[in-house]
Amino acid sequence: MNQTPDVKLPEQTAIWQDTLNWQPTEEQQALFQKLFELILEFNQQINLTRLIEPHDFWEKHLWDSIRGIAPLLSGKIPINPGDKIIDIGTGGGFPGIPVAFALPDSSVTLLDSTRKKINILTTILEQLNSKNASPWLGRAEAFGQHPKQRESYQLALLRAVAPPSVCAEYSLPLLKIGGFGILYRGHWTTEEEKQLQSAVKKLGGILESVDGFTTPLTQGIRHCVWIKKVKPTPKQYPRSVGVPAQKPL
Ligand code: SAH
Repeated sequence: MNQTPDVKLPEQTAIWQDTLNWQPTEEQQALFQKLFELILEFNQQINLTRLIEPHDFWEKHLWDSIRGIAPLLSGKIPINPGDKIIDIGTGGGFPGIPVAFALPDSSVTLLDSTRKKINILTTILEQLNSKNASPWLGRAEAFGQHPKQRESYQLALLRAVAPPSVCAEYSLPLLKIGGFGILYRGHWTTEEEKQLQSAVKKLGGILESVDGFTTPLTQGIRHCVWIKKVKPTPKQYPRSVGVPAQKPL
C-alpha cells in the first residue's frame, strides 16, 4: 500500500464566491480534499494527472471543472433532480467527479475507453462513498449507438478529448432534445467555430454560446462552448469506433 502524501488543498472561499457566486459546503470541501489525496495516491500506479501541486489541482481540476457548469449553479440553465450527465473521456475523473459533488441530485456517468483508468476510478469513487457517479468502460462511438444510452442525457461534458467537431459527434447522439454539450476548451478560434457549426448542423444540434473567461490564479485562457440538441441525431451518427476522429465531420 502506498502512503498517502499529506497535502492540504487551499479552500479559496472568496474566489469561489466572486467567480461563481457559489462555494462548496464543508462536506463538499472534505470531498475535494479526499479526492485530491486519492488521486495523488493512485497517480503513483498510472498517470491520471500531472497537476499534483495543490494550487494547480485546485485551479485546473476543481475550479475549472465546476466553472463549466456555472449556468446550472446560478439557475440560468435548469437542471432537475435525476437528470443524467455524462463525462465523455473522463480520464482521471475530470470534469465529472467535481460536477457530481456540486450537483448531488444528478446522476453522473464517467465514460472512458481505458480499462486501467476506469478500474482506478471505481476504487476512488467507492472510497469517496459516491452515490451519484458511476464509471463506465467504453467508447463514445459505441455508447452513442446503444439504445439505452442514446438520447438519454441532459448534459454531456468533454474536456481535452478531441477536436470540437469530434466532440460534437461523440456527444449529440447521447443528448436528449433540449440537452446541452459543454466543450471545455483553452483558446478558441474562428476556424474551430466554423468546423463545429458545420458538424452540429449534421448532428441535430446548434452552437448555443461560447463562454470565454480566465482562470482565477494563473489567468489561463478558457472557453466553454455550449452546443444544444434541437432535433434527433440521424441514425448513422456516431460513426464506427475511430471514424469520427479519423474523418471529422
Ligand atoms: N477529461 C480528462 C481526461 C482527458 S485525456 C481531463 O480533462 O483531465 C482524454 C481521455 O479520453 C483519455 O483517458 C482517453 O482514454 C479518453 N478517450 C478518448 N477518446 C475516447 C472515446 N472515443 N471514447 C471514450 N473515451 C475516450
